[in-house]
Order: sequence, then structure tokens, then C-alpha cells
Amino acid sequence: MSERFTGSFTQQEPIPEAGIAAALAVMRHGRLHRYNTAGDEIAEAALLEEEFAVYTGARFCLGLASGGAAMACALRACGVKAGDPVLSNAFTLAPVPGAIASLGARPVFVEVTEDLTIDFAHLEAQAKATGAKVLLLSHMRGHVCDMEALVALCDRLGLRVIEDCAHTMGAKWKDVPSGRHGAIGCYSTQTYKHMNSGEGGLLVTDDEELAARAVLLSGSYMLYARHRAAPSAEVFERLRLDIPNISSRMDNLRAAILRPQIAMLDDRRARWRALYQGMEAGLAGVAGVHLIPRPQAEDYVGSSFQFLLQGWEPARVARFVAGAAARGVELKWFGATDPQGFTSRYAHWRYAAPEVLPQTDRVLAGLIDMRLPLTFVPEDVAQIARIIADEVAQAAAARDLAPVAAPVAD
Ligand SMILES: *Cc1c(COP(=O)(O)O)cnc(C)c1O
Repeated sequence: MSERFTGSFTQQEPIPEAGIAAALAVMRHGRLHRYNTAGDEIAEAALLEEEFAVYTGARFCLGLASGGAAMACALRACGVKAGDPVLSNAFTLAPVPGAIASLGARPVFVEVTEDLTIDFAHLEAQAKATGAKVLLLSHMRGHVCDMEALVALCDRLGLRVIEDCAHTMGAKWKDVPSGRHGAIGCYSTQTYKHMNSGEGGLLVTDDEELAARAVLLSGSYMLYARHRAAPSAEVFERLRLDIPNISSRMDNLRAAILRPQIAMLDDRRARWRALYQGMEAGLAGVAGVHLIPRPQAEDYVGSSFQFLLQGWEPARVARFVAGAAARGVELKWFGATDPQGFTSRYAHWRYAAPEVLPQTDRVLAGLIDMRLPLTFVPEDVAQIARIIADEVAQAAAARDLAPVAAPVAD
């Protein structure tokens, strides 16, 4: 009888008690809107921004309704207009090109390397070919490229960098927090990310003009003076009549849930790292499994795990994924023809009229991805690794690759 995993890949940890208590207090007083404050009360949303600015070492921070809203707000703050080309990774998730498309701008995709980071040579070629002025850099699945080299290259190309840190909240490159290398860093506090408020987003920057624009864009109704991690009134006075209100604010309920989670980020990173390294150890040396190297300079958050089945024909990968699913191991395959669950890839974003990217196609064809929620314990990870190793061996040896039922997507 072969072993079967019975845990859930999508079960996150509960909201900490301090967050539950703070949320109840907000519901009891009823002032959920961030600008609805009594007397000299400081709104939870303003406190969250102040505390996240301290955590990341940024001068300014703004809470938003989602990570996608944060990216769209950042793009607008940078002056991106309808029709403008905006560079982004081909290996990312749908909200990234979606944020670009929400401005009527044009996503231009850049190839991914086998290390799952942006290809610098192709970035340079695409920047020169399109004249793009902005790169929306997605640290997809937590893989961070050489940020010093990236910033130097983008400076040379005249590209402003907005970082999508949906998978790198709490991560660092050479001790600099992710989101602090570019002009703006954007984060998501959606349930599957590193702090959980259901939905939510944060944006950080050191640039006072970008920060003021972002606050005005988020829908501040001229109440920007109630923000704390924001520039002085003079900066707002210069801009306030020129910036539209594109309502996408954070509310006090979500901010209350999030505030106690900031102090937990570093411990969560360590716990995720332990799960990640357990998976790495369990899959090391398994024939056919190519693990992704993690640079020394990268202090990553291992909230998900990827490996490559290089050169496998699609039917064999499909057989492996279905075999693992039958044993309770829920894997996502970025090479699937049809978008499933959260796993779509650049070719599926038809509205962006993507050009064919052969290198990315080759990498994604063999890319297997799984979540590592903090509700897993090391024994879970060891068991999952054993099942994967076994199913890889079976699929590698299989002669009959007849189509199998598609795995369940969530
Ligand atoms: C989740 C996610 C976002 C933003 O997500 P929201 O659901 O809008 O908060 C952005 N980029 C990536 C890569 C993501 O996975």
C-alpha cells in the first residue's frame, strides 16, 4: 500500500489572538473607514502604515485594497499612461499584467531563466525595442534576482523599477528588505501571502512625490493629513488638484488584523525556511528532479517550492502530476495547456497579445510548483518529498502515457 498525504496545501494559520481582539474593537466602535476617527484617535490603517514603514525601513507607506491595487497605484504614480509599454516578467501571475492593463498600458514580457528570475539580456533587448520607462519586476514565487545588478542595469536603461513583492514580504537581498531596491515596493496581504487579512495591499517608497501621488490616487478625499507614514502637507498641496481619486483604500478592520502580524514576519520566514529546506533535502539527488539554486545573498521566504522536470514530454509531466494528486499531493504545473486555479501563464493573457518566448516556454513546460503553508510540520514535508520522489520515478519509467484525469485545482 503506497502512502498518501492527507494534509491541506491551502490551510493557513489562524489570525493571531491580538489581531482578533483588535478587529473586534474596531467592529465594536464601528469606525471601519480609515478617515472615520473620533477626536484625536489615530486610525488602525495609519498605524499599520507607520509600522510597516518601520519594518521595511521606508520613509513612506500606504495601505491599499489589494496587492493588485497597490501595483496599479504605483504604475499611475510613476506616470504610466494608456498605450505605454510596461516591462514585466513572463513568469508571474495574472494580477501583474492585469495591473498594467488596468491603466490601458501594454504589458511587455521578459524571458525567465532556469533559476526562475528575470533574464537580464532579454530585459535589455525589450527595453531598447519598446522604449519602456518602467519595469514591474515580479519576485515570482519568492525567487529574487541579483538586485544590485538589476538596479544598475535599469539605471543604465532609464527604467524605473516597481517591485511586486507579493511573494517576498519579509525577504531580503544582501540584508536590504525586498521592495526597497526599486522606486516603489508593492505587497499583498491576501490570505495566501505572508500576512493575512483576506484581501489587502501595501506600498512603500522613499520618494515624497510618488508617496503623495499614491495617497491621493488611493482616494484620500483631501484627508491626507491623517496619514502618518506620508510626506508633508506642502507636497500634497502641489499635487492634490491634479490627481484623480481611484478608490482603493485599506480599511481599519483589515489593518487591525494585520498590525500584530508584522512582528511575526521574521519568525515566519525562519519557519518557512525550515519547511523549504526539508523539501530540498527530501528531493536532493532524486533522478530527473532539478532543484532551483538559491543564492547566498538571498534571504528568501520559502512559502512555496518549485522544481523542474527538464525535457519531459507534456504527457509524462501530466501523468506525474495526476499520480501525485491521487496520493494527496497537490502540485501546480505551469506548462499545462489550460489555465487552472491560480496557475495561468503568459500565453494565456491574450489581451496583452504576448509574443512567443521560447526560453520561458521551455522552463515553464517542466515547472512544478507547490505551496508550503505554515500549518505543515517537518514530517509532512518529508512525506510529500517521498511521494514526489516515488511518483517521479514511476512517471519517468512509464511507457503508457495515456491522458489521465486532470488534477483538482483550487
Ligand atoms: C497575489 C499576487 C499579487 C497581488 O495579489 P492580490 O490578490 O491583488 O492581493 C501580485 N503578484 C503576484 C505574483 C501574486 O501572486
